[in-house]
Amino acid sequence: MEFVTGLRCVFCGELYSTRTAYTCPKCGITGTLDVQYDYRAIARPLTRRSLAKRSEFSHWRYRELLPIRKDAVLPSLQVGWTPVVRAASLAKHLGLKTLYIKDDGRNPSGSLKDRASSIGVVKAYEKRQKIIACASTGNAASSLAGQAASMGLRSVIFVPERAPEPKVTQLLIFGATVLRVQGSYEDAFQLSQSSCERWGWYNRNSAINPYLVEGKKTVGLEICEQLEWDLPDWVAVSVGDGCTIAGVWKAFFEMKTLGLINRAPKMLGVQAAGAAPVTTAFQSGESLKPIDPKTIADSIAVGVPRNWKKAVLAVQASGGTMINVEDEEILEAMRTTGRLTGIFAEPAAATAIAGVRRAVEEGVIGRMESVLAVVTGNGLKDIRSAQLAVTKPFEIAPNGAGLEAILKDRNLVRQPGT
Ligand SMILES: *Cc1c(COP(=O)(O)O)cnc(C)c1O
Repeated sequence: MEFVTGLRCVFCGELYSTRTAYTCPKCGITGTLDVQYDYRAIARPLTRRSLAKRSEFSHWRYRELLPIRKDAVLPSLQVGWTPVVRAASLAKHLGLKTLYIKDDGRNPSGSLKDRASSIGVVKAYEKRQKIIACASTGNAASSLAGQAASMGLRSVIFVPERAPEPKVTQLLIFGATVLRVQGSYEDAFQLSQSSCERWGWYNRNSAINPYLVEGKKTVGLEICEQLEWDLPDWVAVSVGDGCTIAGVWKAFFEMKTLGLINRAPKMLGVQAAGAAPVTTAFQSGESLKPIDPKTIADSIAVGVPRNWKKAVLAVQASGGTMINVEDEEILEAMRTTGRLTGIFAEPAAATAIAGVRRAVEEGVIGRMESVLAVVTGNGLKDIRSAQLAVTKPFEIAPNGAGLEAILKDRNLVRQPGT
């Protein structure tokens, strides 16, 4: 915490010390706090050159920009430093010259949430709390369970009824106490909040706990370094609660403040059309209006986003915009991303790609502009949705009857006479 100067409310602007636990005492539960740093002091140890010398290839390489103590005990799982790949075929398909993908499905539990959960367990450990809890549509849950397991902490997780089975299984394997709430994510969230208060567990809910966005921020810090400080025109991120996009933007803001990049990208925030209250708030300029979410992208099916304000401010500050995509477009993006890059994105992750496609079609993103899309989670985490995007395998007898006809039909063998 050597460089943390306090916590500022994103609504009323009041500055608090880090003794304030979760949200603004004046604004209440909706008063999201933002961690403040002494960037002037950070600029001394954190330079392009000092970073290049660091051998820590995980998100802990940006320790000065993280709200953890110098002597913090860290989880042993490797979080972050996921690859940035150039996706030439997919770029061509979308009508773009340059497209990069940051493949964050390659974190230990298969999603970007590991970046936040790892901070959560470090803070819980620091506060000598043995039990950590959260509500989650699935990814925050499985990542928290995994990170807690690696630190020897116990976890209590509330998931909505609809949480995909692979994610629930993952967290059972990691030894969490799993409570499947017969209701929506919002119901699970409310129950986890009251339970944390009642039993005094450490609360990992991203939009309540200001430290977690700082973990999500590292995806943006890595992008700067991995693209050798030359950032694309746009960075596309899918939006549920709004913590991820707020974190990614904060990374660019910080890198610019530290003088490590000259120009920050514009942010493209993408929501599923059936769960788009943040886009609505962004477009109307009004406060968030809760909705009843309906989308196959479970990780962003959030009816009452807790971090909408940070998300809206981030997109505005970047000069970017927000866009919605239909479930059909998400499935299409899963298919084309898989086929043209070899990256298997879960629906919420493919949403970013679908958003890029739509933004190009609508002329929001110019064809000559460069884009990076963050693939936030691995497709194996939600097989049922993925199955909606593809056809069935061909059933074939061991003697191979009918095989040739299939291959011919798919243009995989030479036709007679050609
Ligand atoms: C959580 C999540 C998001 C969205 O992040 P928010 O902070 O909720 O906006 C996007 N994609 C995946 C795979 C996620 O798990």
